[in-house]
Amino acid sequence: MINKQRVLDTFLELVQIDSETLNEKNFADRMVKELEALGGVVTTDEAGKAIGSNGYNVYASFEGTIPGDSMLFSCHMDTVKPGNGIKPVVADGVVRSEGDTILASDDKSGITGILEAIKAIKENGVAHRSFEVIFTIAEEGGLRGAKNLDYSRIKSKKAVALDSSGNVGKIINQAPGQNKIYATVVGKTAHAGLAPEEGISAIQVAAHGIAKMNLLRIDAETTCNIGTIEAKNATNIVPGTCDIIAEVRSRDYDKLQAQTKHIVDSLQAACDEFGATLDCKVDTAYISYNVNTEGELVKYICENIKDMGLEPNIVPGGGGSDANIMNRNGIEAVVLGTGMSKVHTTNEFIEVKQLENTAELCYRLMTKA
Ligand SMILES: [Zn+2]
Repeated sequence: MINKQRVLDTFLELVQIDSETLNEKNFADRMVKELEALGGVVTTDEAGKAIGSNGYNVYASFEGTIPGDSMLFSCHMDTVKPGNGIKPVVADGVVRSEGDTILASDDKSGITGILEAIKAIKENGVAHRSFEVIFTIAEEGGLRGAKNLDYSRIKSKKAVALDSSGNVGKIINQAPGQNKIYATVVGKTAHAGLAPEEGISAIQVAAHGIAKMNLLRIDAETTCNIGTIEAKNATNIVPGTCDIIAEVRSRDYDKLQAQTKHIVDSLQAACDEFGATLDCKVDTAYISYNVNTEGELVKYICENIKDMGLEPNIVPGGGGSDANIMNRNGIEAVVLGTGMSKVHTTNEFIEVKQLENTAELCYRLMTKA
């Protein structure tokens, strides 16, 4: 069984090791030591070099003896800002920061749970399934660690990412994909008073294209928004360029691509009509996934949640996480709630009970056939 005092002690210690995005090295070094001491076969990679981080992704595998497929447990090590010099405060069963930083329960609540589960297994000699652990860098702001993982090293075909707000029991089985569109309409500058007919107004062309777009709520699983439209000129100059930044999200991959094409095509049509040109780049931020609620993975997790006396709560997610990238790389992955609350703010907090429940759930998922 898990050691509740150790769960809290571990969490309080881990949040005090700074690991803002791209500065994860000290924390990653510590994870390597922990996982090796627990008997894992630990490797690291060069992902940090590729993305400008001093850290690296940490991989660990633990060979088990009970039947059942190998399972992957994943968390990210990086935190948002302000995440340096965190001083956790425990009062009335709740952990908070002193108020001038985040708490980093996103995602060190998950890391704490995984480490405690393995410690409990090892010190009691409990039989367990084969499992792997991945701790990524740079999840915040682009899932860059997960995008640069060496997936050939990962044997598991099923995974849980412990990385969501909501109490233990929450399972996110689907999430949208997102494309970002960076477009520049290139018209032709001219003096607006002397010879406007020699110019092509990039603002006018962009406005024409945007007016014909289908935007905002597209359908139950697809949304689209223009966040930026920018051109700054003196009023006596016909604007030569206009920048547009838009995003499309959908839980359905084909719809994501279709709506993205619609945005690009609308701008292209306007450019063609006015004799302007379009310079456009589509960046795939992350790709959607949808794990079957009746499938083996979700059912297995639900059973273990119920065995703890908790209620499984299967919900769709609204954003991207490392699970999007794992699903795209052939690993069926869902995201689990760890009880982290008000994340990415200095009001972030977590109940001690939720830390214990996360450790308990990890322990069960590792040891129940
Ligand atoms: Zn997170």
